[in-house]
Amino acid sequence: MSKRDYYEVLGLSRNATDAEIKKAYRQLALKYHPDRNPGDKAAEEKFKEAAEAYEVLSNSEKRQRYDRNGHSGIGGAAGTGGFSMTMEDIFSQFGDIFGEAFGGFGGFGGFTGGRRRQRVHRGSNLRVKVKLTLEEVSHGVEKKIRVNKYVPCSSCNGTGSRGGSSYHTCPTCGGTGQVTRVTSTFLGQMQTTTTCPTCGGEGQTIMNKCPECAGDGIVKGNDIITLNIPAGVEEGMQLSLSGKGNAGPRGGIPGDLIIMIEIEDHEFFERDGHNLIHDTYISFIDAALGTTLDVPTLDGKARIKIPPGTQSGKVLRMKGKGLPVINSQTQGDLLVNINVWTPKNLTREEREMLEKLRESGNFQPKPTGREQSFFSRMKEYFN
Ligand SMILES: [Zn+2]
Ligand SMILES: [Zn+2]
Repeated sequence: MSKRDYYEVLGLSRNATDAEIKKAYRQLALKYHPDRNPGDKAAEEKFKEAAEAYEVLSNSEKRQRYDRNGHSGIGGAAGTGGFSMTMEDIFSQFGDIFGEAFGGFGGFGGFTGGRRRQRVHRGSNLRVKVKLTLEEVSHGVEKKIRVNKYVPCSSCNGTGSRGGSSYHTCPTCGGTGQVTRVTSTFLGQMQTTTTCPTCGGEGQTIMNKCPECAGDGIVKGNDIITLNIPAGVEEGMQLSLSGKGNAGPRGGIPGDLIIMIEIEDHEFFERDGHNLIHDTYISFIDAALGTTLDVPTLDGKARIKIPPGTQSGKVLRMKGKGLPVINSQTQGDLLVNINVWTPKNLTREEREMLEKLRESGNFQPKPTGREQSFFSRMKEYFN
């Protein structure tokens, strides 16, 4: 795929000044910023494209090479026509160029790698495991759980300062929230503006920190949370409760609570998707004569008919006695595996009776259908 001309990308002429390049990039970066265009792939591509253009044109040496040789003049393996930047590259190289404008925007999502501080502090997400029985999965369940988490400090109402509004202008940055410094990057010397380390970009510091929370505005606490878990959930599923995670420092937005579903083993059932599997054993006499049998279900016991002549390994399907499919009207089945139990300890009389039955010859396997040809081939093989 051929790349667009970098000047065209930034909407500039070939003799644009450094200031014009920076300004044009900044405008595009803000317009196509992922925080403003969540989930928009086209915007993300434009954002990357602009960053690449800026990466080259803002560096005088690279710009000269680009002007002479176009895309093949810069970076990348021979013939690939340039290079590509990842989102992480972009934020670690140029994140600071639009730091200020995004101060109140909730930060850079997952791209910051913890390097950037934000003016609006978001609480972290919390993960909690919740164990459910199959009975609970079957009908859905309301669960109250106690979650240990950060909560707003009650002494300072989450502000972090003692006695209300005792903020004063940060001495390090003079209230701008940013400090300018010169750093060396792979592009050479770069003047960058970074978030002020003293105030974390807020531009003000607390004069009188609240002693309860040391100025953070949050303390360790707990919360009772009611979960409405829908029927049919599966092991490993996650339910996200927006805003129920850790409180945000100094009045920030709380994080999310993420519920991870675990399913307890059941003594009678194996789960297979939305079907349940139950193993049961019957005597060979019941298998031969037929019987009725009690089997457990998730809603109490049920009775099934074993027809005369039932083979071991037969699976009886009880329609609709399995688990519901999440967010649908569909219901799985209960599959009952019939195993014929072979007696192990026979009395002498019993053995004599069975010997007689064996002599009658009627107890040899008499397969039908597909099994029949298998058995006849076996007979040929042994003859
Ligand atoms: Zn406090
Ligand atoms: Zn500061």
